[in-house]
Amino acid sequence: MSGRILIIDTVATNRIVLKVKMLAAQFSVDACSSRIEAEAIISTNRPDLILINLSDPVEDRHEFCRTLKNDPQTSGIAVIAVGVADTSKARFAALDVGADDVLPRPMNDTLLLARIRSLLRVRSASQELLLRDSTSRALGFEEANALFETAAHVALLSPEDMQDGNLLTMLGKGLGQPVRTLSTAGVLKATAVTPVPDLFVIDASSDTSQHALFRLVSDLRSRSETRQSTQLIVVPHGKPDMAAMFLDLGADDIVTSGTSQGELSLRAKALIRRKLLHDRLRDTVRNGLHAAVTDPLTGLYNRRYVESHLTRLAEQSRGSGRELAVMMLDIDYFKSVNDTYGHAAGDKVLVQLADRLRENLRAIDLVARVGGEEFLVAMPRTSAVQARNAANRLRRLVNCRPFDLGDGGPKLRVTASVGVAVSGQNGMHQTELTRMCDLADAALYAAKSAGRDQVALSKSAA
Ligand code: GH3
Ligand code: MG
Ligand code: MG
Repeated sequence: MSGRILIIDTVATNRIVLKVKMLAAQFSVDACSSRIEAEAIISTNRPDLILINLSDPVEDRHEFCRTLKNDPQTSGIAVIAVGVADTSKARFAALDVGADDVLPRPMNDTLLLARIRSLLRVRSASQELLLRDSTSRALGFEEANALFETAAHVALLSPEDMQDGNLLTMLGKGLGQPVRTLSTAGVLKATAVTPVPDLFVIDASSDTSQHALFRLVSDLRSRSETRQSTQLIVVPHGKPDMAAMFLDLGADDIVTSGTSQGELSLRAKALIRRKLLHDRLRDTVRNGLHAAVTDPLTGLYNRRYVESHLTRLAEQSRGSGRELAVMMLDIDYFKSVNDTYGHAAGDKVLVQLADRLRENLRAIDLVARVGGEEFLVAMPRTSAVQARNAANRLRRLVNCRPFDLGDGGPKLRVTASVGVAVSGQNGMHQTELTRMCDLADAALYAAKSAGRDQVALSKSAA
């Protein structure tokens, strides 16, 4: 995995030793000794991850770390604190200023590299989501913090009959919310865990069941239901290789057993926050995609969607050798509806008309609002005769009963004209598709000229 790493350490030998290790692991590396140099590198050569020695005799590195994590421009850079005393107080202080992990000296190389890989993996997932989410800039870290207020689901997974009551109590207290307990064997057997936890805390502190737990971690990571959940693994003290293996298998964070409640809950909260933020980003992407292809007034597809979907329908029709019908429906004298009853009344007519169209078409038909009072309907596998009948059916959907303008106001009779074009039986190519829409438009114009409230078929389709 490639990635750019910045090493910040005042001691030259520390920098050199770390740099050699990072280069050997194929990362690109910058190294510096002061905050000023670090800021210059961050602004010109943005790293994916920073290895920072927090115990500096001159500079307040904790403060620097906090600044980095509070700035939306740099908050996404992963930070591993090194050179920290191996005490719960020192570890807590590092996590508290926003470090993603703390690796006290002497550092285990396998664990360090596994940690870097795992953090870079998460970072690239976050970046992809942010990239796809056009409103991402509005979602800073404050937003992520606010997200934590919404209830999260947390489950403690322990091997059968080995539940650590102390760990459960610490978690519940630290997070200030209930934590479910599940047996590891039960989770593997269950076809679905509901509700799916945002965070699994997996107790691997008794290493007797190590291999089953390795399997569990990768299983949870690969199942579609639990893939997005985060995993915090509790490992025995002095087992860095085991910790590294968990990280490589997909765990998000590691904590050693017997750790303080403060450290446990800081790590757990950070994972929950990230999970909820990612959920939120995925939702915005999904909603954004939906918003991009629909018309806000009627909820029908818009012209942009029509363009890509019609191409697919045309390809299908070419493949199946069946005809495709395209219809343009336009409300008659709609301007006078607005002029007489107001724009809001006009909108009501548009919404009700859209509902009537939607409710009366087959699932395979496409209906879209392509202009102010203009709708496009595409019907695959539809011959000219069937198309004419369908178009008349649509026309009658409009004129069969009046539209409700609400507030006890008048009910309004409205009519529409429809132009129809049908592809030849050999299907059609892209240029013909454009031509077909033009033909449907021309037919619509003919229907209008002939007196409105009627259907006209394009010459080539007749
Ligand atoms: P024709 O029978 O020839 O189609 O006449 P028309 O009045 O329907 O056609 P014209 O193109 O002259 O006017 C269309 C009107 O549709 C003008 C515009 O004010 C109205 N319109 C377009 N979009 C909307 C909308 O979103 N809401 C409302 N209420 N009116 C709209
Ligand atoms: Mg009109
Ligand atoms: Mg029009």
